[in-house]
Amino acid sequence: MTQVTEHGGGVWSIEVPIPDNPLGHTLVHLLDTDSGPVLIDTGWDDPASWDTLVAGLGSLGVSVADIHGVVITHHHPDHHGLSGQVRDASGAWIAMHAADSAVVRRTRDAEPALWLDYLADKLTRAGAPDEHTAPLREARTSGRIRTLPGLRAALPDREIVPGELLGLAGRRLRAIWTPGHTPGHVCLHLEEAHPAGRPGHGRLFSGDHLLPGITPHIGLYEDPDDATAGDPLGDYLDSLERIGRLAPAEVLPAHQYAFPDAASRVRELLAHHEDRLTGLLALLAVPLTPWQVAERMEWNRPWEQIPYGSRNIAVSEAEAHLRRLVKLGRAEVLTGSVPTTYVAV
Ligand SMILES: [Zn+2]
Ligand SMILES: [Zn+2]
Repeated sequence: MTQVTEHGGGVWSIEVPIPDNPLGHTLVHLLDTDSGPVLIDTGWDDPASWDTLVAGLGSLGVSVADIHGVVITHHHPDHHGLSGQVRDASGAWIAMHAADSAVVRRTRDAEPALWLDYLADKLTRAGAPDEHTAPLREARTSGRIRTLPGLRAALPDREIVPGELLGLAGRRLRAIWTPGHTPGHVCLHLEEAHPAGRPGHGRLFSGDHLLPGITPHIGLYEDPDDATAGDPLGDYLDSLERIGRLAPAEVLPAHQYAFPDAASRVRELLAHHEDRLTGLLALLAVPLTPWQVAERMEWNRPWEQIPYGSRNIAVSEAEAHLRRLVKLGRAEVLTGSVPTTYVAV
């Protein structure tokens, strides 16, 4: 049975399942506007997820064909997966921040062989052992390359401009750029009084940026064309503070459940990352590669039990934390080290 929640003031959420994923579901939000219903995120590209979305809309008397527009918080497949299918069925526009649209475009255009090279090189530079990168190199040389995920992701029609209203008839929905989880992640601030009169400034659709019980993954922005790669964790922490200052009356996240008091959740997350950085700094009393750091960091299970793909994500997360320490002047890269080796200053 499809779970639909009415949040009041012309806002509903529909639980759209994510197959084989411990997260369970994406909360796809429906926002009533004077030009027709608008979706915030769409859910995973899977027939059962589609059926659930359609059934959820149906229970609200909305046909997919009625959808006027789709606003995407970020490009990840559990948020943007069904956007193309919604557009095909309705003629709706799809809006996304330019930095995430660039990721979608790059992924669609990616040459699988070059992408495998990029991944293998990146992991080697991070200190991954040969047995970890071997499957990538084998897939490359054997020509037995599976299609890349995200190859079919829909190209957006509109750009979400940070700080601006989205131009939805009869509603005040403002885009707040919150890079970190992805380079173009946005939260959407509904600048209208809370329907139940709760104190605070409107409501915030927070995507994956601010969730009540989980910490979003913060890794490197994957961009083969950009050698600088930046400081995603620094971006994320800045974005968190921006959301804390907004002080919305209620947060409507894309996973788990709606919650009040964004500011205290922001403080928890800031403290969590500060602890993580402090722990990492202690490890860096001896020089370590990102791979070695990932092996020693605390995850939701022992390193030996972490599957292949999740190890890549873990190493990316370790590297994002190392970059932050370097930016803060608390760690440095050993000059000329191959693989890249970090040490506390
Ligand atoms: Zn995400
Ligand atoms: Zn997500």
